[in-house]
Amino acid sequence: MALLVQKFGGSSVADADRIRRCAQRAYDARRAGHDVVVVVSAMGKTTDRLIELAGEVAASPPKREMDQLMAAGEQVSIALTAMALSSLGQPAVSLTGAQARILTEPAHTRARIRTIDTSRVRQHLAQGRVVVVAGFQGVTDEGETTTLGRGGSDTTAVALAAALRADECEIYTDVDGVYTADPRVVPSARKLARISYEEILELASLGAKVMASRSIFFGAKYNIPIHVRHAMLPDPGTMIVSETKEMEQEEVTGVALKTNLGRVTLTGLPTAPGIQARIFAAIADAQVLVDDIIQNEVSPETTSVSFTVDHADLADIKPVLDRILSDSGPVRGAGSWGAVRVDVGLCKVSAVGVGMRSHTGVAAKMFRALAEAGVRIQNITTSEIRISCILAKEDGEKAMRAVHGAFGLEVPARG
Ligand code: ASP
Ligand code: MG
Repeated sequence: MALLVQKFGGSSVADADRIRRCAQRAYDARRAGHDVVVVVSAMGKTTDRLIELAGEVAASPPKREMDQLMAAGEQVSIALTAMALSSLGQPAVSLTGAQARILTEPAHTRARIRTIDTSRVRQHLAQGRVVVVAGFQGVTDEGETTTLGRGGSDTTAVALAAALRADECEIYTDVDGVYTADPRVVPSARKLARISYEEILELASLGAKVMASRSIFFGAKYNIPIHVRHAMLPDPGTMIVSETKEMEQEEVTGVALKTNLGRVTLTGLPTAPGIQARIFAAIADAQVLVDDIIQNEVSPETTSVSFTVDHADLADIKPVLDRILSDSGPVRGAGSWGAVRVDVGLCKVSAVGVGMRSHTGVAAKMFRALAEAGVRIQNITTSEIRISCILAKEDGEKAMRAVHGAFGLEVPARG
């Protein structure tokens, strides 16, 4: 007998029929002898609709009231799911975040979970009930309702699984697992049986949307196996687990494409200390997320710095850079600065895999594949388990297919 947390996303509980099918899943697991905690999101696009409504009554609604409003979405789905379970003959109880004692920081609309007091959930489990907990919400010490940020139900599920020391956290969603690449771009992409926390975090930061990143951090920290699977299909999905020896045998696990990138290049910067700190402090003040940073020392006196950002953020960055550049002598005694160039229409193709730590020649193989596909590489950045190439937008999909093929990812892994 195991303790399972089953999380059903918004699309999986979008209507009454789907809620019944999710309840059936929980019921089946309970019949198989497991203790079951269910976490649900709001039905379908409910959260989006609530946010729109708020916008119709107020230009900038107070965050506290936004939390009250958004938390209502999950409250509907927990009650309906518990009812559906009862009508299958399975005793069930629904709990809001506060009732499940999910304590968070007092940061409305983006609260982090502090602790979970599981005593109440455990009592219900001990009495044979399936416990249905509202995702995405918690409560502060003062009793205020908070939410965890969009997509936060995944975090609720994995955090609850960690607090309960569950054997597994199942994430039921509208995709049937994690693929070697987006199958819409690479038709030969293959579903992975397993992937490591670290790899999925890299892929998520590269735009592969599977789960909220925060939830994967929790999974990694407490070593909770996470099973991503389709809510309406019986087949197993992908297990997200700690790195294993077998995983290291493959050079590359997956390939990702991040689109809509722009690049800002500052040339002719003095090499004096402090330049980078100034530039990036100003960008951070403008709340812009910087993707990759590339610096090149051009000569002992001058350097250039490039960074990529989401296309949408370029407009926010422009005034910041203009301000820095019009500041005469940005660093005392360093003279004036050179030029700014902005490039748009870029993308980033990345190969990710823990096997890169122990294999040599992975970068060479990727670059060769791109060369053979006639793709020009504009920048290269890497981490311990990732190689990324910045390319012209038009080359992105072709590059994905070339890299995917070069590493033989369409062929099922051994074992
Ligand atoms: N309902 C919330 C949202 O749409 C939380 C979630 O679905 O995970 O963001
Ligand atoms: Mg959702």
